[in-house]
Amino acid sequence: AAKTGSKGQFRFYDHTLYEDIKMRLNTEQELQQAIKEDQFLIYYQPRVQTQTGKLLGIEALIRWQHPTRGLVLPNDFISLAEESGLINPIGELVVDKVCAQLASWRKQGVEVVPVSVNVSPHQFNEGKVKKSIAASLAKHGIPASLLEIELTESAMMRNIGDIFDELTAINEMGIKVHVDDFGTGYSSLSLLQRLDMDILKIDQAFTSQLGRGKDGEIFFTAIVSMAKALGMRVVAEGVETLEQLHILQTLSCDEVQGYYVAWPLPADNIADIIRKQNLFP
Ligand code: C2E
Ligand code: MG
Ligand code: MG
Ligand code: MG
Repeated sequence: AAKTGSKGQFRFYDHTLYEDIKMRLNTEQELQQAIKEDQFLIYYQPRVQTQTGKLLGIEALIRWQHPTRGLVLPNDFISLAEESGLINPIGELVVDKVCAQLASWRKQGVEVVPVSVNVSPHQFNEGKVKKSIAASLAKHGIPASLLEIELTESAMMRNIGDIFDELTAINEMGIKVHVDDFGTGYSSLSLLQRLDMDILKIDQAFTSQLGRGKDGEIFFTAIVSMAKALGMRVVAEGVETLEQLHILQTLSCDEVQGYYVAWPLPADNIADIIRKQNLFP
């Protein structure tokens, strides 16, 4: 914010920068506290078959129950967690909470589907992601087939050297890998093929173009045929309207996810949803 100095002159950047650094340090300390005090929650959002509405998977989305600010969304703290290194303990606790939840649903007799966890490229070093996933699965008695991971296309392309071996190792454990936010990261086809990914999630920016002229549909058609050729399933992210769903049904996009089908919800609300045959409203 601009401030008037003692002699009436304006001072701009010093104050703003100082405030900014102070706030980041403060948030970093709060994040540390949040880890200690277990202030993180997982919300769950279904992913369904485009033609039938059948539940195929659930995405785990982190939320921070802040003591004064209320429920904080990941876009407001994940990048700071990445820069400070706190993404490592946070990433581990997300996987552990998801495995604990899967165990609890199974104990209640809920017929579970795989849950996918978003991972940050910053978590990939020295095989740590694989080790912590394996530890959480073992601790809660969950088969690897019930856990999946999501990594954004741009993350994959940026750190391909470091990430490739670990992704392959995770995949060999029986854990499927999703390419998240596809269409925004300029990946090469040969790389996608080499990585042997299972699911391609098309970014919601493209879904929102459907029904607004021909180009959006052309993009989807091209991606679907490419993904099929590479043996991947395609998910449309951010489906908000019936019109978008209808278009996606004509484009043979395999799966859809979005507010039109179901919002991200706390675990307690999900058990009922899992029992439904068809999630379309
Ligand atoms: P993402 O993985 O691409 O997740 C989809 C985001 O879109 C979620 O936002 C979800 O709530 C939102 N969404 C779902 N359906 C719709 C829709 O129909 N319309 C619109 N406009 N949005 C929709 P959220 O939960 O705020 O998460 C944002 C991003 O934060 C995620 O994007 C993911 O990249 C990251 N993230 C979430 N949880 C974690 C986590 O546990 N670890 C890490 N490293 N990143 C996470
Ligand atoms: Mg995701
Ligand atoms: Mg996404
Ligand atoms: Mg995203």
